[in-house]
Amino acid sequence: MADIVIIGSGPAGVSASLYAARSGLEVIVISKGIGNLAKAEAIENYYGIASPVSGGELYDSGVAGAKRLGVQFVQEEVVGLTFEERLVVLTTGNRYAADAVIIATGSERTVPKIQGIKEFEGRGVSYCATCDAFFFRNKDVAVLGNGDYALHEIDELTQVVSRVTLLTNGEPPYEKVDDGITCIDKKVTSLFGEQRLEGVAFEDGSTLAVSGLFVALGVAGSTALAKKIGALTDGSKIVVDENMATNIPGLYSAGDCTGGLLQINKAVYEGAKAATEATKFIKQKKAK
Ligand SMILES: Cc1cc2nc3c(=O)[nH]c(=O)nc-3n(C[C@H](O)[C@H](O)[C@H](O)COP(=O)(O)OP(=O)(O)OC[C@H]3O[C@@H](n4cnc5c(N)ncnc54)[C@H](O)[C@@H]3O)c2cc1C
Repeated sequence: MADIVIIGSGPAGVSASLYAARSGLEVIVISKGIGNLAKAEAIENYYGIASPVSGGELYDSGVAGAKRLGVQFVQEEVVGLTFEERLVVLTTGNRYAADAVIIATGSERTVPKIQGIKEFEGRGVSYCATCDAFFFRNKDVAVLGNGDYALHEIDELTQVVSRVTLLTNGEPPYEKVDDGITCIDKKVTSLFGEQRLEGVAFEDGSTLAVSGLFVALGVAGSTALAKKIGALTDGSKIVVDENMATNIPGLYSAGDCTGGLLQINKAVYEGAKAATEATKFIKQKKAK
C-alpha cells in the first residue's frame, strides 16, 4: 500500500517521486508512459547537460534513477480520482489508495477539430462526466472517444442520463465496445444548436439529437482528473497555491498541468515542492 501516488512519469512526476522516496515514503508512480518529452528531439537548456540529449534519453535516465531509490512504476491509464477515507486513484483495472496524490499529467486535453466544439463548451460540451452528468439527467447525450477513458465516462453517465451514444468519429469501434453500447462510427463534422447544444452532424449529412457531448478522446486530461474530485481549475490549468497544493487536502499538482512556463526546469521544481509539502502532510496525518 502506498503513502503517496503520483500520476505521471514526466519530469514533474519523477522529480516528485525522488523527493518522496528519499523522505522514506512508499511511492507509486502511475503513468501511460513518456509524455511531452517524447516530442523533444534535442534538449540543451536543462542544467547539467554538456551536449543536447533527446527527451527519450532524459526520460529513461530519470525513471532509472527513481527506480534505484525504490519508487514503484505502474504502466496504467488513470481514469478517475475520488475520496473514500483516503484518496483513491482509479485506473482502467485497479484502485490505488493513498494519503496524498500528486497530479503531474502534463498539458492538456485533446480538443478535436470539430466545428462548434469550442462555442458550445459549457453550453452542452463537457470534458468531465463526474462533474457534469447531473446537468444532463434524463437527457440524451453522446461521448466522443474510442478508448478506456471514453468507456469510463459512459459508465458514469449511464447512471444519470436517459441515453448515451458513443461517437468514434470515423474510427472502427475499440475492441472493448460491446453490444450494450450504442455506437456510431461516422465522422462528426459539426455541432449545432441555438443557445445550447442540440445535436451533432455527421459527414454523410445525418444528425443525432443530443443535449450533451462529453469529449473523452485519448486519456483523461489533467483538469478532467482534478475536477472529478472537486479540485479547482482555471481553463486548462489546475489551480495550486505556492506549495503546489490544490483546494483538496492531500491533493497536489505539478508541472505543465499547473500552467506557466512549460519547461522541464519548472516541472522539476514543482514536482520537488509538491512532494516536500505532501510528505509534511502525510507525516502530520500519521502523527495524529
Ligand atoms: C516538441 C517539444 C519540445 C520541447 N523541448 C523542450 C526543451 O528543449 N526544454 C524544455 O525544458 N522543455 C521542452 N519541452 C517541454 C517539456 O517537454 C515539458 O515542459 C515537460 O515534459 C513537462 O513535464 P510534465 O512532467 O509536467 O509533463 P509530461 O512530461 O507531459 O508528462 C506527463 C505524464 O503524465 C502521464 N499521463 C497523462 N495523462 C495520464 C492518464 N490519464 N493516466 C496515466 N498517465 C497519464 C503521461 O503518460 C506522462 O507520463 C518541449 C515540449 C515539446 C512538445
